[in-house]
Amino acid sequence: SVSVRLDRLLANLGYGVRRSVHILARQGRIKLDGEALRDAEQRVPVTPELAKRLTIDDEPVDPLPGMVVMLNKPVGVTCSHKDAGPLVYRLLPERWQRRDPAISAVGRLDKDTSGLLLLTDDGTFLHQVISPRRHIPKRYLATLDRPLAGHEADIFRSGTLMLESETRPLLPATLEVMSPREAAVTITEGRYHQVRRMFAAVGNHVTALHRVSVGGLTLPDDLEPGAFVILDEKQRSVVM
Ligand code: URA
Repeated sequence: SVSVRLDRLLANLGYGVRRSVHILARQGRIKLDGEALRDAEQRVPVTPELAKRLTIDDEPVDPLPGMVVMLNKPVGVTCSHKDAGPLVYRLLPERWQRRDPAISAVGRLDKDTSGLLLLTDDGTFLHQVISPRRHIPKRYLATLDRPLAGHEADIFRSGTLMLESETRPLLPATLEVMSPREAAVTITEGRYHQVRRMFAAVGNHVTALHRVSVGGLTLPDDLEPGAFVILDEKQRSVVM
């Protein structure tokens, strides 16, 4: 396993600059198994065990680098600094926003889309999940302006649907009718506003869009909008 200097680890987790971590250590506020670690220059092994043993002001240390978070994104928050409105990162604890490496959204959901959003500081995980070569299925629940006409599933499945101003047809997608104005759609690509544009292409209009799963990971029913959980190894492994 990799070891890292305690001051660097905690500074990169957002606990302050290295100087202030040294002060925390000298004040006896950083503990390993309940024993004060007064020398912040010592190296510590970055392992899952460390996360359980290390405390700051008697609180468990924040998740170590390499975390994946599942957030139930509310409507009205954005994943991109380019869009107007509050950013999804503001829903995470304040200190997490000062982490280095920073936590980023794994792909994007539109401002008006809710549901399962992954966030991570693990660049390898991020790139694998969003890789266009992996075709990880993403399932959405779409609420529609008009009743389904009945032909949508065949069109989405065909692999010939062409979106406005694009040159390559969409890969086959599945559609399950949930009610006259509600459908569950599973896509394996991530084109801009894809699900909304798919319904526009069949003469309908999406009034609400909610992502329910990414790969084998499904949003738990009891995770409220704006709430998040840290994925364990098993949940991480079912994403792809
Ligand atoms: N499709 C959309 O139209 N919007 C999203 O946020 C995700 C998929």
